[in-house]
Amino acid sequence: MVDSTWGTGEPPRDVLGPVADGQAFDDHHPPRADLIADCVHCGFCLPTCPTYVLWGAEADSPRGRIYLMNEGVNGEPLSGSMVEHFDKCLGCMSCVTACPSGVKYDRLIEDTRAQVERRYARDRGDALLRRAIFAVFPYPRRLRLLRGPLMAYQKSGLQKLVSRSGLLERLGPTLATLESLAPRLRKVPPPPRRVAARGTRRAVVGMLTGCVQGAFFPEVNSATVRILAAEGCDVVIPSGQGCCGALSVHNGRREEAVGFARRLIETFEHTGMDYFVVNAAGCGSSLKEYGELLADDPVYARRAAAFAAKVRDLAELLDELGPVAPRHPLPITVAYHDACHLAHAQGVRAQPRALLRGIPELKLREIADPELCCGSAGIWNVLNPVPAAELGDRKARNVVATGAELLVTANPGCMMQVAAALRRQGAGMAMAHTAQVLDASIRGPVAAGELLARWGDA
Ligand code: SF4
Ligand code: SF4
Repeated sequence: MVDSTWGTGEPPRDVLGPVADGQAFDDHHPPRADLIADCVHCGFCLPTCPTYVLWGAEADSPRGRIYLMNEGVNGEPLSGSMVEHFDKCLGCMSCVTACPSGVKYDRLIEDTRAQVERRYARDRGDALLRRAIFAVFPYPRRLRLLRGPLMAYQKSGLQKLVSRSGLLERLGPTLATLESLAPRLRKVPPPPRRVAARGTRRAVVGMLTGCVQGAFFPEVNSATVRILAAEGCDVVIPSGQGCCGALSVHNGRREEAVGFARRLIETFEHTGMDYFVVNAAGCGSSLKEYGELLADDPVYARRAAAFAAKVRDLAELLDELGPVAPRHPLPITVAYHDACHLAHAQGVRAQPRALLRGIPELKLREIADPELCCGSAGIWNVLNPVPAAELGDRKARNVVATGAELLVTANPGCMMQVAAALRRQGAGMAMAHTAQVLDASIRGPVAAGELLARWGDA
């Protein structure tokens, strides 16, 4: 049988060192000592770290986690408490933005997590939960199968009954969290495989439909296709494109991520695309790192780097191309929430704001403490439901304080997390993806009330 690590540059599983070799890390991509040494322990990152803000413990700060990595590199064993502090990191990369010394915490935590996943035996409950999550979440078809039962649950009134009974809370916070996160589903036809540019073609764009985005927010994908076509792009959307691997790589499952990445590259590399567009922040940040993810792979390294160079977040691409489609007025007040993997990991902050400001009559408000994560962080909110709810509630209070009618963001995880927190606080604010707002403005004059009603039960 061929080992699944073949060609990835990773050692085959059967020659990995035994977990009980007394060392935290093996020598296959451990957190790099030179990157650890870049940290000068100044502490500037501490106030922007959500876990430090929540618990005030040094070991739950970026500086503390880097210290623990250093212990591991220097031969300390991988203890349960060390793993817990690494696990509690949301991977929000707020510390990367805050750090004046340019510490590459993103690289460090990714390498650390891959070591933990390979070398640490998790307790049964934790291992089972993770296995269940990764058997479903990175598979668009499996996620889409959940749509029917979920819609029936929502529409039959059963959801209201269950929520009033408090049954899920009694069964456990993980189940209650999963249920509270599920967005209100709508029937939307799947996007066609190819959509032609309106007017003169300016670019050919491959588009990722995504796992959670495709299954739970298909209307965001539809809006994305319409905007791209209106802005002069041919849009190519191959079916069966699968997962980009973001969730896997952010959780230390590097081999799995490598497999997803290879498949996605194969699916798109012969489409003739000039750009590869993504409308989910977490996916975009991973896709831009395909070059590093596949750097050891002799067959894919060059192809991965070429692919990554074409990746753009939707707002980034639209800003780069410049507008040609006329915008109609949208007389609404919106608050824009920076998704961590867009703002901190990709540095995309100005472009979505510029797009929103380009809509006549739209007023844009800023949210206090924008650098602090909403607590979604991929599957962090499912694995850590209680602190995630605390972060969500904090974000929701700041959102409500803006007085905006509509919350706009660009990541499905943030939409679900903040919507759940707003519902808990009884603040029924409408929510939309940046793509939906722009699409509404391009399509034609719409009454503000109609828009808010359309987005009101996200
Ligand atoms: S990634 Fe986020 S949670 Fe993790 S150490 Fe950095 S700021 Fe803290
Ligand atoms: S801001 Fe950077 S250098 Fe300072 S403690 Fe944090 S990671 Fe280290």
